[in-house]
Amino acid sequence: MSNVRHNWTKEEILKIYNKPLMELLYEAATIHRIHHDPNTVQVSTLLSIKTGGCSEDCGYCPQAARYHTNVEGNDLMKVSHIKAQALRAKASGSSRVCMGAAWRNVKDGPEFDQVLEMVRTINKLEMEVCCTLGMVTENQAQRLAEAGLYAYNHNLDSSEEYYKEVISTRGFEDRLQTIDNVRKTNVTVCSGGIIGMGESIEDRAGMLVALSTLNPQPESTPINALVAVEGTPLEDEKPVEIWEMIRMVATTRIVLPETQVRLSAGRTQMSNEGQAMCFFAGANSIFAGDKLLTTPNPDVNEDMKLFEKIGLIPQKPFTKNVQPLTIEAKDSKFVDLGEKPKWTRPQHKIQRNEQKKIKAKETRKQEK
Ligand code: SF4
Repeated sequence: MSNVRHNWTKEEILKIYNKPLMELLYEAATIHRIHHDPNTVQVSTLLSIKTGGCSEDCGYCPQAARYHTNVEGNDLMKVSHIKAQALRAKASGSSRVCMGAAWRNVKDGPEFDQVLEMVRTINKLEMEVCCTLGMVTENQAQRLAEAGLYAYNHNLDSSEEYYKEVISTRGFEDRLQTIDNVRKTNVTVCSGGIIGMGESIEDRAGMLVALSTLNPQPESTPINALVAVEGTPLEDEKPVEIWEMIRMVATTRIVLPETQVRLSAGRTQMSNEGQAMCFFAGANSIFAGDKLLTTPNPDVNEDMKLFEKIGLIPQKPFTKNVQPLTIEAKDSKFVDLGEKPKWTRPQHKIQRNEQKKIKAKETRKQEK
């Protein structure tokens, strides 16, 4: 019988998070062994297929156009370029490619058609394909499914309450709506969040309530530690301590027992020993390589060296779900509807986001 619960309360989750660490680790590792092979870890490569220039105001994100950061934008990449990067990722041990575009939401048209072609191309390489493209309608999700998409990533980021302190340009309910739209297809859901944005432990528990009460729960959950980038509203946040990360991973493992829990951003700040403890606590997926387009070099692949040292094996593709079929564009049942959905724009003000926007404007003026 499945022991997945969809009625976790914040109080119960807080109690787990705050347990003595050895007890927490033992419980999480025990649950991990019931649902997963503890010696395999999924290796996923993140490719930024369209970087920067985003209209949103996510306080953690250097790709938001309104802040002044060192991120160089680039237009949507070519399918052939993505295919070459996916082949390199596969050769260095990745079983999944996640393609990210800095968009508020998907717009029907030639760019989306190009993304669909990327999905078809990578699925044919026998790799799991994931996309993170912002908000999607049900029809767009269906088109991604037809192209052979394995997973769609859409993070909840934080608790519903703290989300309002980080993002003002779209609502938490929009996030849930996109997840719901993806759920109407056979595409799996990847959704998680970020710790270290100034949120309380209660907010972390609140995010896990939101994720665990989804039914079904997400098939994968990235747990990111904030990488505080200069020029973003969260640039002064202190780095997340490894103990917090271990507690968060372990708690996520307990409340989302069947989910692949992914160590995501912030891993470069962790020691090998810290990462090993996260794997023991139930993390069973990582993002490999540089996050912004620099292809990992297998000769100096630190992850593979760590795997070898501690006896971990990269997970094969389609271990958890079968490979989706790819339907060619000409045979598609779901076509471009030219939709213009009305996603909300809450437009409340977040002081630190406003301040960084003003500062960015001044810096740009000075640079001219
Ligand atoms: S929507 Fe995505 S790309 Fe845009 S600012 Fe937010 S996190 Fe960055």
